[in-house]
Amino acid sequence: MAFARDDGALCADAFPLADIAAAVGTPAYIYSWPSVRARYAMLEAALADVPHRICYAVKANGNLALLARLARLGAGFDIVSGGELTRVLRAGGDPGRTVFSGVGKSTEEIEFAIRQDIAAFNVESVAELARLEAGAKRLGRSARVSVRVNPDIEAGDHPYIATGTKESKFGVPAAVARDIYRQAATSEVLEAVGVGCHIGSQINKVAPFKQALTSLLDLADTLSGDGLALRHIDLGGGFGVRYRSEEPFCPKELGRMVKDALAGRNLTLTVEPGRFLVADAGVLLTRVEYLKPGPNGRGFAVVDAAMNDFLRPTLYQAWHAIEPVLAPDAAEARWDVVGPVCESGDFLALDRELPLREGALLAVRGVGAYGFALSSNYNSRVRAAEVLVDEDRFRVVRERETMADLLRSETIG
Ligand SMILES: *Cc1c(COP(=O)(O)O)cnc(C)c1O
Repeated sequence: MAFARDDGALCADAFPLADIAAAVGTPAYIYSWPSVRARYAMLEAALADVPHRICYAVKANGNLALLARLARLGAGFDIVSGGELTRVLRAGGDPGRTVFSGVGKSTEEIEFAIRQDIAAFNVESVAELARLEAGAKRLGRSARVSVRVNPDIEAGDHPYIATGTKESKFGVPAAVARDIYRQAATSEVLEAVGVGCHIGSQINKVAPFKQALTSLLDLADTLSGDGLALRHIDLGGGFGVRYRSEEPFCPKELGRMVKDALAGRNLTLTVEPGRFLVADAGVLLTRVEYLKPGPNGRGFAVVDAAMNDFLRPTLYQAWHAIEPVLAPDAAEARWDVVGPVCESGDFLALDRELPLREGALLAVRGVGAYGFALSSNYNSRVRAAEVLVDEDRFRVVRERETMADLLRSETIG
């Protein structure tokens, strides 16, 4: 396990977190590369029986050091903006293994990705297809298309991360997808290569993926009847992790399911995991600034990390384990762990039994996905440092921001 105790002190692989905090300060995100690599290997092994490509969803954690190492393992990438494509290129990622998702790709982003000759555009509307075609013509290039279908499945543990229902803005119904393929077939610059979906996030069961795959394969069969043979099928991401007591997602079961479903078909499977690869590989280090009494026998532990650093508790009511980094030297009491930001919704954890003292160092677990990525400068707070732990050393892979960074692009006018 990446974050385990050695003689009472919580470590990131071989390195005591207290030493890392002493070197880089708090708040800081600490990522274990061996942990990400192990998750990637687990998924690779589970999918070994089917032709496949793992396209890491950059939005979960776009840190260049992680992207570069994933690229070296042979990972592809799932991007949702031109900015993410720039990150992938900077990290040495292969655009030929990169797919571009999202409902609102701008003309500029589309043309950038066409010039980089990415593996496929996950097209999400008729209007987007028209823009893609126009862009490819303008550039004298071609583009590969995979239509994102909305299979109308309820999955995901929070309404904000359920993306596969028919009420969702994402994807198109199968009937519309068929029109898009017809339209693509008339184009000299577009090549329809695949079909895909992304049904939600933090899904811990394989059944919804089976349901989604079945409806994608139905569509592929219909298209085959129309004379179009697809090569790729993209199941999206959304594989869940255990934050608290959830049954963890079983990649082996996914592997068995796709092997059966794709048997005898000439299709390469793409998956777009984000959270599954990186969530458990990160902790957020934060220090207790103040302890103050509160109502109902619960106190407030005011720490130096806030909702601007880690938004998931506020945005999704997400529960994350939080624990003292060093062996406790205080009695347990009930605390709301809150940040310095001027919002009542600014909390990291509510009603936890913790042995706390002023100055105590805490680790928030499971923050490697949608942690730093969702951070902001709200309250003019600089964003935290990011540290990557390798076998032999740890190093800062993103410096803590400075106020100079924040003010660089502003003028008084
Ligand atoms: C967010 C997203 C993913 C990754 O989701 P996870 O839950 O982090 O695995 C994959 N594909 C698309 C299209 C996404 O929007």
